[in-house]
Amino acid sequence: MKIFTDNEQETVYEGKKLGRKLMPGSVVALFGDLGAGKTAFTRGVAEGLGIKAIVSSPTFTIVNEYPGDVPLFHFDMYRLENEDELFDIGWDDYRDRDGVCVVEWSEKVPGAFTSDTIIIRIEKLGDDKREILIENSGGLEIC
Ligand code: ADP
Ligand code: MG
Repeated sequence: MKIFTDNEQETVYEGKKLGRKLMPGSVVALFGDLGAGKTAFTRGVAEGLGIKAIVSSPTFTIVNEYPGDVPLFHFDMYRLENEDELFDIGWDDYRDRDGVCVVEWSEKVPGAFTSDTIIIRIEKLGDDKREILIENSGGLEIC
């Protein structure tokens, strides 16, 4: 499924719609360049989960945790040296914690994902125009 957005708020809203449908244990892999809108989309996912905290990029920490009925674990793999490092910080444990994992820079960790991972590619088409491609819905009813 392909969606086009014309400003940041619209991308946040698409994330929110997805966030409402996610389940404990859901993993969302985001792909796309710097400035594509991955963090904006993740902010929406948090809203959809009912999390009030403002989501910002976890670039310097790899993962930020946001508590909630269903907690959000927000990963940014940009600074990861290699895929092993992800498993060293406890990727498998996070997956077992009944939260939602959203991953920025998924390009870095292809081995982290399974067939039920929701795969989303965000592409910058212009200053404010973005294409959001839901490549794998992970078995969820996403429309
Ligand atoms: P990423 O996490 O992919 O690096 P961010 O979400 O941090 O990207 O930043 C996206 C930037 O692009 C923000 O400055 C935002 O205001 C801008 N922007 C412009 N149009 C859009 C859009 N349609 N969707 C998302 N962000 C947009
Ligand atoms: Mg980001």
